[in-house]
This record gives sequence, structure tokens and C-alpha cells, in this order.
Amino acid sequence: MTDLKLQVIPLGGLGEFGMNMTAIRYGEDIIVVDCGMMFPDAELLGVDLVMPDLTFLKDNQAQVRAVILTHGHEDHIGAVPYFLSEIDVPVYGTAFTLALVERRLEEYDLEKEPRLIKVKPKQAIAVGPFKIEFIHVTHSIVSAVALAITTPLGVIIHTGDFKVDPTPTDNELFDLHTLADYGKRGVLLLLSDSTNSDRPGYTESERAVKPRMEEIFSRSEKRIIVSCFSSSIHRIQLVLDLAEEYGRRVAVIGRSMVSVTEIAHAHGLLSIPDGILLRPQDVMGLPPEKVAILVSGTQGEPMSALSRVAVDNHKHVSVEKGDTVVLSSRIIPGNEKSIYRVIDHMSRRGADVMYGSMNPPLHVSGHASVEEMKLVLNLVRPRYFMPIHGEYRQLTKHARLAEHLRFAGLEETFIMSEDGIVLPIIAINRNTGRLESPPEIVTRGFQAGDDGAAAFLDAARLMVIKTLEGSNHEEKTDWGVMKEKIRADLKRHIVKQTSKRPLIMPVILEV
Ligand SMILES: [Zn+2]
Ligand SMILES: [Zn+2]
Repeated sequence: MTDLKLQVIPLGGLGEFGMNMTAIRYGEDIIVVDCGMMFPDAELLGVDLVMPDLTFLKDNQAQVRAVILTHGHEDHIGAVPYFLSEIDVPVYGTAFTLALVERRLEEYDLEKEPRLIKVKPKQAIAVGPFKIEFIHVTHSIVSAVALAITTPLGVIIHTGDFKVDPTPTDNELFDLHTLADYGKRGVLLLLSDSTNSDRPGYTESERAVKPRMEEIFSRSEKRIIVSCFSSSIHRIQLVLDLAEEYGRRVAVIGRSMVSVTEIAHAHGLLSIPDGILLRPQDVMGLPPEKVAILVSGTQGEPMSALSRVAVDNHKHVSVEKGDTVVLSSRIIPGNEKSIYRVIDHMSRRGADVMYGSMNPPLHVSGHASVEEMKLVLNLVRPRYFMPIHGEYRQLTKHARLAEHLRFAGLEETFIMSEDGIVLPIIAINRNTGRLESPPEIVTRGFQAGDDGAAAFLDAARLMVIKTLEGSNHEEKTDWGVMKEKIRADLKRHIVKQTSKRPLIMPVILEV
């Protein structure tokens, strides 16, 4: 044993949105998880960007070993150049995340060449006394990871930003199995994304945006102008695919939209159909019904391409009567005025502007809602829990949720120590009631029969499919009933096969 202390020191992102940064120290070694910046509120007049306070790290500079990045959103990587100009350490992240960091670094003139080290999901690295494994998660940006940080005192799981998307558009599923494996072996501390802790249920899959976009592409008779966050590679892919299907060519305008799509394409994360791209200067020359435009500036930033198009001040693109303008993003509180100004200008020019919440949605969140948070808490079952990534009210709600599970879970813990836990995860199409993808079965602490785990999981998957197929329409539209049926059928199957009685918790995700 050791008498060295393990410390988790939040340096940003708690009680505020943005500037996510957490230092983890064991003895005389520090790693830093994420290094984000914040776009300031209108209240901070004249301030462009807010960087985290590095005083603590500079005071302990000799102990800082590395920066570990979970994904490429600005609130997680935006301060990396500033950080490296003060503290020169290696930076670890997935290839796409680091490519976005490089793009930021181009604007800086660092004294030393930055050391950017690429990692992949399922890979583990050693930094001082820490072993860090990268776990793929689903989020609104591609190539996002959670971290399992093994320290001499136990394992820390840091989720990064996540949602549990059962049908991600790139088919890269959240690696819940690895998370469950860590949970089974015992986790000391969980740090988990709290953004949507005030939203009950499940966050919709990225795929839920498709019906609305499809509807727009099928009925629009003039140009379609879509604005989304430039980092929303899933969304950009959807627009490219629909444009191909409906015979439109696509122009990409705005600095960040152009550079991020280029980076994603170079990393094989965005497939651009042959011959689909259109140069901005050729947009107005083609028949309007043959053109779609991807443009940055969803928040009404005054200098963005979208804002310039809105006031007819863009070199190549104008909005005309009958065009459809789609704001496929959320309105970040504080930006309402500038966004509505853009919408007003567009409307005045005769465009049909689509924005805000509607069903089917134009935009879905990239963050987990309450049921997904519970799922992660249940799989990880940490000894200690620390809500991160949220304002104070969201952190509090997430903490209460964890506490509630802990107190409600005494009996569960008893059962679990015996036979473990089995989570069938089922993605059902809300409209058709049909399975959207094969069911996933995640287990924790459950020993399958003699045939081995793979055979058990296959059989359990079939079992769930059979239960669904054998249910009538009325049952299928009542998730409560379906969960009960799946639980009962699976229980019978498991008892018969293994004579074990694990806790079975079906999770139904509507997509
Ligand atoms: Zn974030
Ligand atoms: Zn994020």
C-alpha cells in the first residue's frame, strides 16, 4: 500500500459551460484531462474568449506529464494552444481530435514543436503512474472517447461528453462493454457528463434528424441552405447523402465549415460522393433546385458566412424567394438576439426558415438524458461519483440521481454480488415499432453458461428479437409492457440455461 494521495482537481467546466479541464494528481505526477475554452456571455462585453486559469498547473509545472483529450469540441480543446505556450507537455487524443487541435495551433506561433500523440479506442497508454485506456463513446462529434484511468489507488472513469446512441450514423457504437468490464472489476470514481440531467428519458439518436431533412429535400423547389455546427460531421454527412439522392450539388461555405469538412474527409470520417461538390462562385449559376449549401454560423455570429448571406453581403451566395434555410442546431442561450436577427433577414428575403424544436426534429442533442446517465451509473457502479460538465443545477441533479440509485440499489447490490446484471439494449423505431438495429446485450458480473459468453449473448439476442416479433401492435407501443415481457422471457431463458438469476434491466431507446 501507499500513503500517496490521489487528487482530482477540477479547473473548469463545473458550474459553468465551457473551459472543461480536470487535473488528476497522484504523488508528484499530474495529468490534465481536456483543455477547453469558453465563448463568453454578452455580459462580458468586448471579451472574445475566456481561457481557464492555469495558475495551479504553472505552480506545479514540473509535475505535469500530459494533456489527454476526450474529443474535439472547442470547450474541450480550445485552450490547448494557450496551454502549450505556458506548459510544454505531450497531448494525447484521437486522430480527428488532434487534427482539430492542429488547426487551432496554426494561428499560434509556439516556441517548441507541439508533441501531439494519436491514440485509438481500446488502446492504453502509460503516463507516470497512470494507465489510460480510451473507450469509444457516441456524441455529436465523431471520434469521441471516455477515459479509464487506472491509478495505484483504483480506477477513475471520465466519460467525456456522451450520449448513448443505439443507431449512430457511422455505426460506431458506444463501447458499453468495456465500461461494464471496468465496472465489474471495481471503479473508484466516476466523472460523468451532466449537461442534460434535467431531461427525462433518452436523448434521440442522431438518426432522428433524417426524416425531417428528407422531407425538406423532397419538397423544396429552390435552394436549400443548411447551417449546422461545423464539427457535426454526422449532420454534414446526412446533407451530402440526401443531396446526392435528390440530385443536388453541394457548396460548402464559411471558413470553419470548409476546414473541418476537409479534415474529416482526410481522416476517412466523411464520405463525399464523387462530383457533388460545387464551388461557391458557381452557386448562383446553377438552377436553384440543383443546389444545396452547407454554411457555418448557426449562432448568428456577425462575421459568419450565414450572417453575411442573410444581409446579402456574401461574395457568392444570395438568398432568394422560395429558398429553404435550415438551422440544424440548438440556440445557445444568450445568442437568441443575433440568431433571430439572421432569421428575420432571411424571412424578409422570402426564404422559408426552419429552426427551433419540431417533430421530427431538425436537431438532436449530443448529450445523455437521465435514463442514459442511469445506465452509465449502473454499469460503472463507482464508489465515488463526481458530476461534471454542467451548471450548478445540472451537477446537483446528476448527483441526486446517483445518490438515489445508491440508496435504491442496496438489494440490487446483493443480487449483483450473486449473479450479476444483464442489460438488453433495444433500439425501436418510434413510428414503425420495429427494431432499428440488432439488440445489444451488456452484462456485468454475470457468468454465462458452459457454452461461453458469446453463445449466451447470441441466444439472448435471438430471444429478445423473438419476444418483440411475438408482440402485438398495442404491446409494442407501450414500452412499460415491452420491458416487462422482455425481462420475463429473458429471465426464463437464463434460468433454464444457467440456473442463475441476474438482475435484468431492459433499456428501450426510441429512435
Ligand atoms: Zn463539452
Ligand atoms: Zn462535446
